[in-house]
Amino acid sequence: MESVNTRLLIIGSGPAGYTAAIYASRANIPLVLYEGNQPGGQLTTTTEVENFPGYPEGIQGPQLMTDLRRQAERFGADIRQGLIKSVDLSSRPFKAVAADGTEIVAEAVIISTGASAKYLGLPDENKYKGMGVSACATCDGFFYRKKRVAVVGGGDTACEEALYLAGLASEVFLIVRKPHLRASKVMQQRVLNNPKINVLFNTNTVGLYGDEFVEGANLVENIGTENEQRFDLPIDGFFLAIGHHPNTSLFPTVETDEQGYIKTALPGTATNIPGVFAAGDVADPVYRQAITAAASGCRAALDVERFLMANPL
Ligand code: NDP
Repeated sequence: MESVNTRLLIIGSGPAGYTAAIYASRANIPLVLYEGNQPGGQLTTTTEVENFPGYPEGIQGPQLMTDLRRQAERFGADIRQGLIKSVDLSSRPFKAVAADGTEIVAEAVIISTGASAKYLGLPDENKYKGMGVSACATCDGFFYRKKRVAVVGGGDTACEEALYLAGLASEVFLIVRKPHLRASKVMQQRVLNNPKINVLFNTNTVGLYGDEFVEGANLVENIGTENEQRFDLPIDGFFLAIGHHPNTSLFPTVETDEQGYIKTALPGTATNIPGVFAAGDVADPVYRQAITAAASGCRAALDVERFLMANPL
């Protein structure tokens, strides 16, 4: 099995990981970056990114990630597909093992594993996973052309997914548990002005039904009040867009906050383990934007550079 000795191991792609790789490789720090299950991270499952500076006409999420990757490779970053399966952060140099058995020994680590979609926690979500339940409209929307779909959530992701699906499906229902949307005003307007999107405010999902595939959702309006009303909504697809949780299960000794986000010594990116840094959504409960993730990837690379200079092995 291959064994790799490097100065820096970056775990996770996305804007944080790739930007860290651009800065570190430009500073001549030999590095290996493992991209994980979803090379490019969450932005590869989005459509147009309109708010990343430098793209006045917007850019497709997957294209932006491909460009960042190429930029890092241009400076010599060793970028590998695949997952890191285990990490030993108990002493320097740190050790990690990839899914294909490759062993990596590194003087410093940047964790940029991002965050994953949250589910409501209904048993039916598991029952119908891949059979009408999805957390990614741009991945699976194609299967619902001219069909009826629902999106759960009231944030920017939910609005974006609803708008994307409105371009494919015959009818889109946005299921929002509050009496208002949380999304930015511009996204709210687009959703509310789209004739194909019906917003169901004050509505919760309590179950799904269907023989093999989803055929509908069991909904409750005004749950827990005297106006509570239960009804079934016939749909073919049920999309979750209720936020994300940080991917930290590989790093049980890295300190996190009560929501599970990695704690860093702000404004730096150092974690509680010297030589281990965190960047991007895995350590950001507040901003969670592509540009802020990229910026923290930059900070992590600069922090690593200083750390390696001060703590040679
Ligand atoms: P958010 O946390 O902003 O919104 C989550 C939504 O899901 C809220 O409406 C929330 O309701 C709802 N929700 C959470 N849990 C449940 C539940 N159990 N049942 C029903 N509804 C639930 O997450 P997003 O993923 O939308 O956005 C994350 C960040 O990324 C935000 O900062 C957002 O602005 C940003 N973003 C930006 C985009 C862009 O600029 N192009 C695109 C996508 C995201 P409630 O309001 O009641 O809590």
